[in-house]
Amino acid sequence: MANASIRYGATIRKRYQKIKQEKQAQYHCDVCGRDAVKRKNTSIWECKHCKTVYAGGAYTLTTPAGSAAKRLIDGIKS
Ligand SMILES: [Zn+2]
Repeated sequence: MANASIRYGATIRKRYQKIKQEKQAQYHCDVCGRDAVKRKNTSIWECKHCKTVYAGGAYTLTTPAGSAAKRLIDGIKS
């Protein structure tokens, strides 16, 4: 909770630059182990190496909200 408060205090410009960097970044693929996961569409990420498709956040592969949703789905299933 304390960390979230600090982040909301950041300037819009700083926040925008961070989002821009994260959108362009390549993320680690758990399937093939390479850093080749790129944003394909909103919330859709694809590994350029093994073509695995991930459903993630709009701007980053994993978000706190996404993790919470996954936990919620896991909770329903079990
Ligand atoms: Zn992969």
